[in-house]
Amino acid sequence: MSVAENFKAVQNRLAAAARRAGRDPSAIRLVTVTKTVDLDRIREAAAAGASVLGENRVQEAKEKIEALGRIASWHLIGHLQTNKAKYAVKLFDLIHSVDNLVLAMEIDKQAAKNGKVQDVLIEVSIAGEAAKAGVSIGDTVRLVREAAGLKHIRVLGLMTMPPLSNDPEDSRPYFRKLRDLAHAVRKEGIAGISMNELSMGMSGDFEVAIEEGATLVRVGTAIFGER
Ligand SMILES: *Cc1c(COP(=O)(O)O)cnc(C)c1O
Repeated sequence: MSVAENFKAVQNRLAAAARRAGRDPSAIRLVTVTKTVDLDRIREAAAAGASVLGENRVQEAKEKIEALGRIASWHLIGHLQTNKAKYAVKLFDLIHSVDNLVLAMEIDKQAAKNGKVQDVLIEVSIAGEAAKAGVSIGDTVRLVREAAGLKHIRVLGLMTMPPLSNDPEDSRPYFRKLRDLAHAVRKEGIAGISMNELSMGMSGDFEVAIEEGATLVRVGTAIFGER
């Protein structure tokens, strides 16, 4: 199947999963993950309707965005090193992967320089020590509170990556915990943030993520094939 056909198929699966869960499909945004994908196939996805593109490395994204321009909204979904924050702020509409205060402060500083308020998600390590990136569940409220105090950052929600598995059902408890955590953060009534976005679910488990409340699903392989 072509990229366009794959893209439509994923959109249809997304909509079907939303309806099964009694949700409005338009409340879920598909982030088309373009890491390692060449420019022609990215153009093809955009032409098929991909309106949000996700990259996991700043340098790779920079080259692509310079070549393609703003054919879509670009999101950073991968780990961000503090020393790359200055580029990330220029390139991305949403950064999914803020997991420490030093990084949040650097994004804030760079956003201020650019006259921008940078939208971010807080990446949470639901799996605990097994995960490479993400703030722990126990430290999430504190990080959100601290980030909320930064004027050039706007926290919109949470992101997580469950441990890799071939069974999508294995991801469900992690997705549920992220949703519950967002609910707990909301109850704190922290000023200056919103907690409406849940970035969770990839090619193997995005339908389960939608059933558990995802508002952003990050899908690469199901659209472009194996990397
Ligand atoms: C690569 C990647 C994805 C997409 O994974 P697929 O299994 O190819 O859909 C999603 N999220 C992050 C953070 C990634 O790095």
